[in-house]
Amino acid sequence: MCPLCSVAVETIDHLFVGCRELLEIWSRIPIWWDVRLPDRFAIDDIMRWVDSTSLKIGQRKAFDAVIISAFWCLWNFRNNFVFGPTIPRKSDLFDAIVERTFFWISNRSSKSRIGWTSWLHNPVLASILM
Ligand SMILES: [Zn+2]
Repeated sequence: MCPLCSVAVETIDHLFVGCRELLEIWSRIPIWWDVRLPDRFAIDDIMRWVDSTSLKIGQRKAFDAVIISAFWCLWNFRNNFVFGPTIPRKSDLFDAIVERTFFWISNRSSKSRIGWTSWLHNPVLASILM
């Protein structure tokens, strides 16, 4: 059973896009990025989410990084929940995605520097020059 909700079998699909305990993440990202949530909601749809947006190339790279970071943070959250010394807080999960993506982009992009404040408030504008 899923260790987070205890009402469904823990599958990859359930963990990443089906668990009611973690679904909030997938509603906060489109608000933060001002993009529409995919019509269908499976892992493949999330992985191709950027294709349904009108983002430009640099923005698409940054948005892809957000999606990958979200999967990474969800997996880490699950593992910390099961194996960690303390129960992680769901309220920290979205912030972890924002921070991790900023860290990855800031350290991997050789073309531009993204400011933390602009990344927080308008990631679409902040990543336009990537
Ligand atoms: Zn669950």
